[in-house]
Amino acid sequence: MNKVLIIGAGGVGTVVTHKIASVPEVFGDILLASRTKSKCDAIAAAVGGNRVKTAQTDAGNVPELTALIRSFQPDIVVNVALPYQDLTIMDACLEAGVSYLDTANYEPEDEAKFEYSRQWAYHDKFRQAGLTAILGCGFDPGVTGVFTAYAAKHYFDEIHYLDIVDCNAGDHGRPFATNFNPEINIREVTQKGKYWENGQWVYTQPHEIHRPLNYPEIGARESYLIYHEELESLVKNFPTLRRARFWMTFGQEYLTHLRVIQNIGMASIEPVTYQGMEIVPIRFLKAVLPNPADLGEHYTGSTSIGCRIRGVKDGQERAYCVYNNCSHEAAYRETGTQAVSYTTGVPAMIGAMMYLKGLWKQPGVFNVEQFDPDPFMEQLNLHGLPWNELHRTDPETD
Ligand code: NDP
Repeated sequence: MNKVLIIGAGGVGTVVTHKIASVPEVFGDILLASRTKSKCDAIAAAVGGNRVKTAQTDAGNVPELTALIRSFQPDIVVNVALPYQDLTIMDACLEAGVSYLDTANYEPEDEAKFEYSRQWAYHDKFRQAGLTAILGCGFDPGVTGVFTAYAAKHYFDEIHYLDIVDCNAGDHGRPFATNFNPEINIREVTQKGKYWENGQWVYTQPHEIHRPLNYPEIGARESYLIYHEELESLVKNFPTLRRARFWMTFGQEYLTHLRVIQNIGMASIEPVTYQGMEIVPIRFLKAVLPNPADLGEHYTGSTSIGCRIRGVKDGQERAYCVYNNCSHEAAYRETGTQAVSYTTGVPAMIGAMMYLKGLWKQPGVFNVEQFDPDPFMEQLNLHGLPWNELHRTDPETD
């Protein structure tokens, strides 16, 4: 029977563990390990049935983690800790001879900059070891890459324009909270904007470009062009793309808080000395902000994330949209977390399933769009993230 080791017991870890435990025909023994064991124990208790074993680990410590992996001998490690630990977990997987999956691109702790080069550099090591590493298998990155691969496979000869649109039309009732780890989230949304056009990256000031976009069953929401990590792999894997952009909705209240946080220095990752102690302002801020894993109870509304693509098929211009809407309330009823954790955790489970079924098993390091999208798309419909598609003849997809 297959064995899986999950690392990280936050909002996403909660969903992955529930979902993995719900598919016993694919996943046999489950070990959930994280920095704080009590959080793993609470998740295991919520899943019930003695289905999940737990352990304490520091995923930044390669020898310690290698020993844990060797003692449990999983078939795959699902990394839903923080992006800071990606490389040490990949190192431990190589040491112990186990395949790897994550949902977020490696980012050094002391520099708010993520890029795939550090993880792609492991390709030969994984290939030589006969192991698979699946990168960025959440929703975005993750499902957005699978959606793009599905569109390219079935509906286009060439894709030319890609807009990934990420709307959270939910309301958690708090003046300010982030939907996943606050430190990672604030680092992501305060950086400069960036998109791909005509073979090069175009840079913008943070949130400089914005416009209302229409989201299915939601309506118009102000959407901001930001840089998001899947753009880097998608423009590499789909070289016919002439333009690729990522849009995310933000409410005015969120942006006002964010501006204040930045202006007063609380988004800084540079340590300051306070009463003789070194403190990283954004870490302190995380400690006082609501825990994203606790937002679910009062969250209403839904997320809507999709891809809007234009290109050509048989010499004709075509436009196509594919998206999922996910209800915060439904996600909470099923797993006790909100839709942002849910939409990340379900694809991570499906990615691990694809590997264990031998469908996405290839030696080396890969982004999700490099695999066959069809079996993954099928499983999305079965495990809580059904998708819809719209075929358009008009060139505008907004
Ligand atoms: P949380 O902060 O809620 O959870 C992170 C977990 O990792 C915590 O349990 C934390 O432990 C644990 N952890 C942190 N450092 C270590 C360490 N050194 N060793 C072991 N465990 C550690 O984050 P989320 O659940 O919101 O997010 C998890 C991941 O998912 C992040 O990488 C995030 O970027 C990614 N993500 C991806 C998305 C996508 O669509 N692709 C969307 C949303 C998130 P402790 O409890 O002790 O703090």
